[in-house]
Parts: sequence; C-alpha cells; structure tokens
Amino acid sequence: MIPQHNMQIHSILSNCASREMTIERIINEAERGGLATIGISDHIDLPDPARQNQLLANFEIVEKLNPSMNVRVGCEASQIAPNTIVVDKATAQQLDFVLVATNHYHLRQVEKPHDTSPASYAAHYLRMVEGAIDWGYTTIIPHPFLLAKVRELDHAQVLASYNRDELHRILHKAADMNVAFELNPRHLRHAMDFFKELLTLGRQVGLKFALGTDAHKPHEIAYSEEDVETLNQLGIGESDLIVV
Ligand SMILES: [Zn+2]
Ligand SMILES: [Zn+2]
Repeated sequence: MIPQHNMQIHSILSNCASREMTIERIINEAERGGLATIGISDHIDLPDPARQNQLLANFEIVEKLNPSMNVRVGCEASQIAPNTIVVDKATAQQLDFVLVATNHYHLRQVEKPHDTSPASYAAHYLRMVEGAIDWGYTTIIPHPFLLAKVRELDHAQVLASYNRDELHRILHKAADMNVAFELNPRHLRHAMDFFKELLTLGRQVGLKFALGTDAHKPHEIAYSEEDVETLNQLGIGESDLIVV
C-alpha cells in the first residue's frame, strides 16, 4: 500500500515545530512526497479562545495558497481528563478534523493515574480513550496506546495490561462513533505485535484507521521506504483507512 495521506503535521503555529514548517513549505514537501491529502494539526494544550482563533486562521492561509492537493485544517487537542478536552465544541465543529491526544501525560495539566504502575496507566488510558469517543467531536486519536512519552514506565507491560474485553468494547464504540485511530509507522515499529492485534480487533468491529507521522520538520512529512515497509508488515490496506 502506498500511503496517500498524512493527518498529523505541525506548522509554525506549534512551538515545537521547525520554523521551516510554513504551510506553503508543508504543501510543497507533501506534493513531492506523492501525498494526496494532508492534515494541519497544530497543538492546543489548554482551554484558550485566542489559541482557537489562531487554529482557525490556518484556513485563511490555506485558502490564499490555493493548493492543488487536499489540505485539511484541524488541530491536535490535548485531553486533560477523561471528561475534559481543551478545544470548544463550537471550534471543533468548524475544523475539518480534530485529533484528540488522549496520552499527553507528559503535560503537567493532564490528569495522571493514582499510581505509576503499568496496570494503572493502562486502566486510566482506556478511560481517556472512552472519554474522547464520548465527547462526540473526535476524528482521530493520535499516537494511541503506546504511552511513549511517560518516562520510567514499562511500555510493553502497559500494552500487555490493557483489559482485552474493555479494549474490545471501546474499539466497538469508536467504530460506531466514527472515531479512527492513528497509525504512525515510526511508532508501530516499537510494538508491532500489539498493533497487529489492534488491527485484527478493529476489523472485527469495523474500526477505521488514519495515517500520520507527527511531522515537526519538513523531511518528516513524506513517508520513507522504511515507513511503507512497516505499514505493509502490519498488513494495513486501503479499506482499513478513513476517507479524508
Ligand atoms: Zn501528541
Ligand atoms: Zn503531534
């Protein structure tokens, strides 16, 4: 499968992105990389009306550039507790898509489990995912299940600790609510067995997936040969992906 979309790209509006990441440069790189659709997903990590207006202003930038490819304007909104997502529903409705980051545990404002055991993180994380689905405006859950940004945590143990009955129930709910899970080939490599299981479980309930690389630099926008190889190793096909 040749990846056609990349739904997690940060522009200069995200402080963590390279200053080269103007939307114009992003589009050029995406075109050179053979992509048909890209998603601009700048961060919003705290409830902040001014920040929401900045995210919406990306529409004007794209309009002025009048690109020949499909450029979708969204955001990557942090979820700070199972029932709290930092972007307003009114803003979410105006955006083309909303990534809800359910595992930004490295941010101070994000609720943590009561203890730091892998089992507690796993249980808390599933509550976060369910909250993001219940919210009703989530398009894609980025960098799911692998809590890579939590330091000193046994990540393999977290993946093993997800209650499979709960996982199945939540994936079913996600499928019913048209919430997709992101697959980032650069993360998949670290937990291939788990993501193969996720794909199998997901297919049983009609769950869809979206591709993204969480690009912060121009060279991270296009998929590399290694990325394509990883996606093929996983066995993902066009029919598993959302239409964006
Ligand atoms: Zn993120
Ligand atoms: Zn990101």
